[in-house]
Amino acid sequence: SLIEEAIAKRAHVRPVVSPVVWPAGRTQAYDVMVVGAGFAGAVMAERLAVAGKRVLVVDRRPHIAGNAFDRRDDAGVLIHQYGPHIFHTNSAEVFDYLSQFTEWRRYEHRVLAEVDGKLVPMPINRNTLNLLYGLDLETEEEAAAFLASRAEPVEVVRTSADVVISAVGRELYETFFQGYTRKQWGMDPSELDKSVTSRVPTRTNTDDRYFTDKFQAMPAEGYTRMFERMLDHPNIDLLLGVDFCEAREAYPHQHLVFTGPIDEYFGYCYGKLPYRSLQFRHETVDAEQHLAVAVVNYPSEDVPYTRVTEYKHLTGQVCDRTSITYEYPSAEGDPYYPIPRPENQALFKRYEALALAQPDVSFVGRLATYRYYNMDQVVGQALATYRRLAARWAEQEDE
Ligand code: FAD
Ligand code: UDP
Repeated sequence: SLIEEAIAKRAHVRPVVSPVVWPAGRTQAYDVMVVGAGFAGAVMAERLAVAGKRVLVVDRRPHIAGNAFDRRDDAGVLIHQYGPHIFHTNSAEVFDYLSQFTEWRRYEHRVLAEVDGKLVPMPINRNTLNLLYGLDLETEEEAAAFLASRAEPVEVVRTSADVVISAVGRELYETFFQGYTRKQWGMDPSELDKSVTSRVPTRTNTDDRYFTDKFQAMPAEGYTRMFERMLDHPNIDLLLGVDFCEAREAYPHQHLVFTGPIDEYFGYCYGKLPYRSLQFRHETVDAEQHLAVAVVNYPSEDVPYTRVTEYKHLTGQVCDRTSITYEYPSAEGDPYYPIPRPENQALFKRYEALALAQPDVSFVGRLATYRYYNMDQVVGQALATYRRLAARWAEQEDE
């Protein structure tokens, strides 16, 4: 059969959760093929499987969990292969949904930025200002007045430069945002949508948490374990190390869920959508603790990496050694970040029009919908996509 041929051709075709069994005489083995085993793909697969659909999940990487994949390294430390992933959301629906598959460890993320050899809280808060300028701002009003005296009004706040300069002025912008952004994105903040730097607020109080969401926690046994539980369903088969282009014909399916890059799906027919990549340097340090907090940001362009992460702060793991990751931004490599700017959005819209004309394919996730989404937003998007799909199928059955 086609399957046996496909399996014989490639040793890396590896059914993981349950073996791929295709009962004899069955012509339509899978109701749905899901491309990608990250948040978008796993949520779709889980929902569809619970609803009784036969689902095949295909990922070209040799593991599940997409960019949220974590694993124990040689020192036994739980690290995030693709950089630090901190879960936070204001959505009770998303939090409750994921809570079916994991216990949680309470964790509130804190970040320091290295500026002229000093470590100061980031996002900028009242203590950051006091430490940086040797001030003694005591109240929110004083901090707000200080920032207002430096802020430069911008008529229309359009770019990632405008949004910071209009809030804190040029000096703080250059200190904390300009260099970091140039490194991270390979372009000046003035060339990026305001949505990018708007992710990081400025505070006049002394709250030094990176996020203020209602739910902030880490999956107690890690992300990969959570994904194993999501995908562990008798209706779900899993093929890892297999690209969609190899699986597409070999495994017939009625519906497709695609969570890879949308331009790739359409053969780059309108040209490549820009994505930004990173190179990760993972290291183990022979000490119990290396950093004061989980993440230190390096806004200076004199340093080639953007940030360093020490995972033990996130996971609470206790062990003799500790592992850290440096992030080096790059143009080449896996597509990690869609790049929010008007011309890219216009190109995405052309691909989206093609996608909308294909009712038998659902495009979900950060790469397929070209949105700079956090994990919780991808989960929310997938749950909504599933609901729409199920409603459409129910309608078609009624007809
Ligand atoms: P992905 O996780 O990218 O999954 C897509 C999967 O599809 C991949 O595994 C890929 O191999 C597979 N695939 C693609 N094309 C094909 C193909 N043709 N054939 C087979 N398989 C294919 N979010 C947070 O909420 N908090 C954070 O702290 C956070 N930190 C982040 C740090 C970094 C460095 C990065 C890059 C992202 C971070 N995110 C964070 C965002 C988070 O990673 C994403 O929101 C989430 O992982 C997106 O899930 P997804 O399923 O859409 O995509
Ligand atoms: N940013 C910055 N300096 C910082 C932190 C963030 O300039 O110290 C900007 C930068 O452009 C970054 C964006 O804000 O890409 C969003 O930051 P976030 O920490 O949310 O990035 P992510 O975790 O998604 O990589």
